[in-house]
Amino acid sequence: MKRIPVSMPDLMGTEEKYVVEALRSSWVSATGKYVDRFEEEFAKICGTRAAISVCNGTAALHLAMLALGVKPGDEVIVPSLTYIATANAVRYVGAEPVFADVDPATWCIDPARAGACITSRTKGIIAVHLYGHPADMDALNSLAGIHGLWVVEDAAEAHMAEYRGRKVGGLATMATFSFYGNKIFTSGEGGAITLNSPELEIWSRRLRGQGVDPARRYFFPVTGYNFRLTNLACAILCAQLERRESILERRREICAAYREGLAEVKGIGFQPAAPWAVVAPWLFCITVTEDKYGMNRDDLIRELDAQGIETRPFFIPLHTLPPFVEQSRKRHENLPHTDRLGATGINLPTYNRLADEEIESVIEVIRKAGRG
Ligand SMILES: *Cc1c(COP(=O)(O)O)cnc(C)c1O
Repeated sequence: MKRIPVSMPDLMGTEEKYVVEALRSSWVSATGKYVDRFEEEFAKICGTRAAISVCNGTAALHLAMLALGVKPGDEVIVPSLTYIATANAVRYVGAEPVFADVDPATWCIDPARAGACITSRTKGIIAVHLYGHPADMDALNSLAGIHGLWVVEDAAEAHMAEYRGRKVGGLATMATFSFYGNKIFTSGEGGAITLNSPELEIWSRRLRGQGVDPARRYFFPVTGYNFRLTNLACAILCAQLERRESILERRREICAAYREGLAEVKGIGFQPAAPWAVVAPWLFCITVTEDKYGMNRDDLIRELDAQGIETRPFFIPLHTLPPFVEQSRKRHENLPHTDRLGATGINLPTYNRLADEEIESVIEVIRKAGRG
């Protein structure tokens, strides 16, 4: 039986042509025309002054923390329902992630709950646009404004999502993206920072490239990093961006088909969409309410797996994981919406070449496994 994976990149456009071109040009490191072209185009797409390519989304978050000067003893407010990289980046600079619950209307960090987490040590907030849904940026920015904090968007899962008619990436102090193989646009490994501040751009570029003084070769006034992305990876990204509308469109069709096919199944819930949101079609999400559906989330995942369908449980809430659980307990963190979603959510296969019959078969298995 042919298995259906949860995700698969679509690299069938000009990706091959551009990579071969980059290879033949011998510009295989982090200088070259595709790096420049990607950074220019991605900034244009996000409506920002600049985009800075980096080697992955985790490095993009780490670089943002460094450029913003986050230090040991500082606190950064993050959602607990996210990929671990969001909180790890805070730890890399010696600071402490403080977890705020999500809003059930967006599944993203709840601005009111974030506000309740602010202490004299708080330096900023990382708002994750979870599963493609933008966080409530106006509320977060105004909260940050009152308390003198920065806001970073973690837009790894939300390429081209929109908040009140504006693209994510330009809605806060800085934004970070991932182009890992399962993200909407991919270069295998890759990432980017987008921003509008010229000072933060200079610092981010400098720290990305070992901290070198731009006016004096081999003079390093600060400790920097090598977080660069190769011209080969940027060649793939340029091809992906050329086809961005068609990639998004097919993924939207898939999400609409799941929603229609599962609408009547008792106990299956969907990701909410705020009226001001254009949700990026990353991995389609369902939630399983055991007493209505007749089976719990983990059993449904096993049933789908037995039928050759790979899925993903939602992220395990970070405040329950070994690196963070003790600190979280000490702060008496109570995150009921995060806990519920983390225990009931499933990501279904979502990728461009998923066939209509395959979508149908996923829907059929979910329909049959439940009470009807
Ligand atoms: C994928 C992801 C990242 C990390 O990106 P990598 O490119 O894998 O390092 C960070 N944050 C979120 C929310 C993600 O989904």
